[in-house]
Amino acid sequence: MSTPDLKEFQEQVSELLLRHRSVLDVLSKFQQSNAAVHRSTVKAVTECGCIEVNAGKQHFTQDMTLSDARQVLDSHMSGRLCENCREIVGAEIGKNLFYLASLCNLLELDLQQIVSDESRKCSTLGLFNLS
Ligand SMILES: [Zn+2]
Repeated sequence: MSTPDLKEFQEQVSELLLRHRSVLDVLSKFQQSNAAVHRSTVKAVTECGCIEVNAGKQHFTQDMTLSDARQVLDSHMSGRLCENCREIVGAEIGKNLFYLASLCNLLELDLQQIVSDESRKCSTLGLFNLS
């Protein structure tokens, strides 16, 4: 089976939406799945330890060039997700996408179109306008 594009994914989700027909149910599931993405990332830090967080103030000024900014701005994170955590975080992001697609279905929004529009904005706005 080939990987579905966003349009096919959204249609597939629509067929499975019977159990989550109510917009209230979908909204609460969407938010819950978002919290699960956060939680699985935090657990990679606090329970597994494959990534570490060490945060401080970002020393960023408006007059910096893009290459200056890339050198100065810190992700506040070191390490990489191990295979196990990668699987867990990825699965939670998958559930989050499911409920995002469900919400789009209920609101009659085209997820593929939204991604295309956002991608166009990313390429025209540039780095500093996205914050
Ligand atoms: Zn891990």
